[in-house]
Amino acid sequence: MTSTPPIRLGLVGIGKIARDQHLPAIAANDRFTLAATASRNATLDGVPGHGDIAAMIAGGHDLDAVSLCTPPSGRFSQAAAAIDAGLHVMLEKPPAATVPEILALAERAKARGVVLFATWHSREAACIDRARDWLAGKTIQAVRIDWKEDIRRWHPGQEWILEAGGFGVFDPGINALSIATRILPDGLVLDAATMEVPEGRASPLRAALEMKSGAAPVVATFDFLQTGPQTWDIAVDTDAGTLTLSMGGSILTLPGSAPEEADDREYPRLYARFAELIATGESDVDVRPLQLVADAFLVAERRTGPRFEF
Ligand code: NAP
Repeated sequence: MTSTPPIRLGLVGIGKIARDQHLPAIAANDRFTLAATASRNATLDGVPGHGDIAAMIAGGHDLDAVSLCTPPSGRFSQAAAAIDAGLHVMLEKPPAATVPEILALAERAKARGVVLFATWHSREAACIDRARDWLAGKTIQAVRIDWKEDIRRWHPGQEWILEAGGFGVFDPGINALSIATRILPDGLVLDAATMEVPEGRASPLRAALEMKSGAAPVVATFDFLQTGPQTWDIAVDTDAGTLTLSMGGSILTLPGSAPEEADDREYPRLYARFAELIATGESDVDVRPLQLVADAFLVAERRTGPRFEF
């Protein structure tokens, strides 16, 4: 009996999410071997490390795939280099700084015959599939999205997030949009937006979006300055009552039922899916959450808020 050799993976951008989620998920999945890393400053004990992706690709590690955990600005050239080298590519969210960048990467991967996987980790939260199945066939009447977290707690010292192309509060907000576009049968269209950018910064700490899903109004409130309890909730009013997803999709409450909860397996599921895509040669690239954020930056009324320091 022959067994398939593990996928030799290079991990790029060794920061918070690489350490918190990618490394444990890779270690727990026997389809992957972590063969090398690329990061300007960080290295991992026992894994060959390089200062950038070009050096990692040239490093003689016989790589099959790379997983990019850097900030979205600058990811295009890293992904393009990997694709051109014939490597399969997995992208953290947001998949790129702009919609044309991710569309170009999808075309490039197709032409080179490699897999591109633009991940949306929040779609892998425990209750998302069940919420989508329950909503299928219901009439959606209204949707409220509240995504409010403390930037200092979850993104300590990440100056890039408030720079141009850093997405600001849309860095977490895009997670809500990735869930909403997955579970709402009629998708989302943006009507209007407001955003508050702190003085001296380029990206917003607060935003509000007015959208439609079919005829139903959808209101989203994103806040990066929420201290105390953190809120990652989506409530969907339907002709059969209100569905509530809370804690980022890990708790589901259906009308007349007790809350359902399950273990967080977002990143193990993402790596299992990446292995499956590599096995079948399919790519998975859904640009809709990024498009909504780009639309918000196009139409938003902006105001300047107080200065912010980490
Ligand atoms: P992070 O802690 O700042 O880590 C990113 C790493 O990428 C940095 O440590 C840095 O390592 C490297 N890097 C390369 N180019 C960079 C640049 N121009 N500016 C800053 N760092 C650069 O950020 P993160 O929280 O891991 O987020 C990375 C990506 O994961 C983002 O797209 C984010 O949306 C996503 N994500 C984050 C979380 C979370 O909870 N934090 C959750 C899910 C997804 P070197 O200095 O060694 O190069």
